Amino acid sequence: MTDTTTLSTDPLARDWWAGIAQGRIGYEVCADCSTAQFYPRGHCTACGSTRVETRTAAGTGTIFSITVVHRPPSAALQPFAPYAIALVDLDEGVRLMAHADPALAIGARVRAMFVPFGDRTVPRFAAAA
Ligand SMILES: [Zn+2]
Repeated sequence: MTDTTTLSTDPLARDWWAGIAQGRIGYEVCADCSTAQFYPRGHCTACGSTRVETRTAAGTGTIFSITVVHRPPSAALQPFAPYAIALVDLDEGVRLMAHADPALAIGARVRAMFVPFGDRTVPRFAAAA
């Protein structure tokens, strides 16, 4: 399993990656105005409330955008190239960037899987069955 303690010094990000390592995509919902948001911030971007709770997404959504990375941002990721990165609109109403099957197209219905990538586990979306 990935050592999530080395991934970030930000507690919100560290908790999010710890969830990913356990197969959970976390997002926040405001207890005051019900706005759903991603990434985790610890406060509501709509009303400013600090009463936000972390929920686990079902892992299903729709491809908003997708591209193939041929030149990774670091030498450590070069062996994985080419790989696809997508913006996925989760059914809970938030959008996140994640790995994806490069054969997917905009509008495709998808489901999250969790796969090793470099030094961590990442969400990767594939066509929903
Ligand atoms: Zn709010």
